[in-house]
Amino acid sequence: MLTNVPLTKSWSKGRFIFFLQRSDLMAQVAVMAPDGQVEKIERDGNPAALAALRQMAALMLKAALQHEFDGIRLGAAVAEDDQFYVDSDKDDQQVSADQLDDLAAAMKQIAKDGLKVEFAEVDLDAALAEAGDDQFTNELLKEHAHDGKVALYRLGDAAIVAEAPILVYANVVKHYQLLSVAGAYWKGMSSNPMLQRIYGTVFFNGDDLAADLKARQEAKERDHRVIGNQLDLFFVDPKVGAGLPYWMPKGSTIRRTIERYIIDREVSDDYEHVYTPVLMNLDAYKTSGHWQHYRDDMFPPMDMGDGEMLELRPMNCPSHIQVYKHHIRSYRDLPLRIAELGMMHRYEKSGALSGLQRVREMTLNDGHTFVALNQIQKEFAKILKLIMSVYEDFDITDYTFRLSYRDPKNTDKYYANDEMWEQAQSMLKGAMDDLGLDYYEAEGEAAFYGPKLDIQTKTALGNEETMSTIQLDFMLPERFDLHYVGEDGKQHRPVMIHRGVVGTMERFIAYLTEIYKGAFPTWLAPQQVTIIPVSDDKHGAYADQLAAQLKAANVRVKVDHRNEKMGYKIREAQTQKVPYTLVVGEDEQANGSVSVRKYGEKDQTSLSKQEFLNEILADIASYSRK
Ligand code: ATP
Ligand code: ZN
Repeated sequence: MLTNVPLTKSWSKGRFIFFLQRSDLMAQVAVMAPDGQVEKIERDGNPAALAALRQMAALMLKAALQHEFDGIRLGAAVAEDDQFYVDSDKDDQQVSADQLDDLAAAMKQIAKDGLKVEFAEVDLDAALAEAGDDQFTNELLKEHAHDGKVALYRLGDAAIVAEAPILVYANVVKHYQLLSVAGAYWKGMSSNPMLQRIYGTVFFNGDDLAADLKARQEAKERDHRVIGNQLDLFFVDPKVGAGLPYWMPKGSTIRRTIERYIIDREVSDDYEHVYTPVLMNLDAYKTSGHWQHYRDDMFPPMDMGDGEMLELRPMNCPSHIQVYKHHIRSYRDLPLRIAELGMMHRYEKSGALSGLQRVREMTLNDGHTFVALNQIQKEFAKILKLIMSVYEDFDITDYTFRLSYRDPKNTDKYYANDEMWEQAQSMLKGAMDDLGLDYYEAEGEAAFYGPKLDIQTKTALGNEETMSTIQLDFMLPERFDLHYVGEDGKQHRPVMIHRGVVGTMERFIAYLTEIYKGAFPTWLAPQQVTIIPVSDDKHGAYADQLAAQLKAANVRVKVDHRNEKMGYKIREAQTQKVPYTLVVGEDEQANGSVSVRKYGEKDQTSLSKQEFLNEILADIASYSRK
């Protein structure tokens, strides 16, 4: 029965008539909860309605797969934040991208047939028998069974376990598109079989769908994996090592430029830069607590056979602690700022790996400052100032502050010391309040040793990622028994502040590639200038001479001597997003000039060699003059 539907009263032909307001009637949808109860909820602008719609689209896609691929073995049918997907066994029956249209048509037929979701609580044995030899469905059913029963949503012959709310009527599902087929490990574990995953997106109206498809297209064009391939910046080959990136010369140039920049910034901010080993005795990670709290993310230790166990470091903190401990420290040494571009290894789940953004070997722009208790606030502000100034140089404007606290219930993950946590969390919050900066708070996002300020950015695909972080730590100084001699001549315990300014080189460059869409500003561009001689025979030597002059001024330049048409070479310089293309021919050679075309601009300007040199050098230096 319809409830809460407004009626409109109207006077007609001498009597009142009542009619339903059709727009309001349309604005509600029937949704079934995992206990089988159905209720009507607002359709528009309601995330719950959209989630139920995605769940329904997933079930319809599953039904369509069953219809089109008889006997196919099926994994999960899931609604995610911005899409839905269904997994199936590709070794059994492969679905190609060309078949997505057929599947979409089969979904349309289901909608047309007016099918609706039925709730059923069935015996697990019966459900298993129905699933037959489909090992994936069998596993899912067993996982979700309670007391020998499992709750299902059924749509025609298809069924999924009732977990999240789902739309009841198939005919509401009209505006959808199947997006792609990709590989995905069963349950996200690389030790499990690889399945095929079909993604789709769905909305209640065509405009929302069109806007979503447009945003997806733009995100695809920005995706650092796509651009990284086009510009030959890096590659990752799972056969050689999943999550272990190879930096090609151009990507390496970008990275080297950033590394030099950040070291210079830190040195002028009173950091001491060091190099420390990636391998360390496992005992250090037992002392630090990494082994107890962080083991899942670590590579297994190497047993050297003589009783020594070596561990690839997942974080640099214990290494910098060794640097601190190497000398007796006094209050005059504090704050002591130790920094390193520290390589570390984390055993991330294979399903979470993504280009340079989430990898297993990474180099963190890491730093640990050791301070006295009363120096925390000032040091925190100094670090934050450095971070924000660095962001300005890279033109990063879209970020938010997140204060990450522990989840007090999760005693496995977090070091247990209530007083320490309360003190550190309130100090961090106090420091942010004093600076007058907006932030939000997130429980369960802290490091195991202390709370942190995370600076969050968004990837092209819309995921939020931590870029920079400042973390307060009272625990490690205690565990490693760190001291300094105070003004009073007595031993005191320092506090450690862990901080990363640009985060890891990997994630940072992935992010920059996306915000710049591959068109790196001149100071970062791997190749800053392409020189194209109109005729290589006649003007090649002049081009080389020009290149030598630019190189002498540290400009990254190449001459395109290839035997190709000029238009082709100019176009290629554009697709490679080289900031300056110089064309040199008869006139230029005679006048000692260059014809300059800037990336993304149509016009060419003629400049003397010196004028061009001045312009590009000013451009290269411009990031630091904002
Ligand atoms: P996440 O929550 O993203 O896994 P985290 O909280 O474990 O990160 P930290 O230990 O604070 O991260 O690491 C410091 C920085 O290292 C992060 O801010 C992020 O920039 C970067 N980072 C962490 N894990 C990875 C990874 N797997 N690949 C690339 N960069 C990473
Ligand atoms: Zn640290």
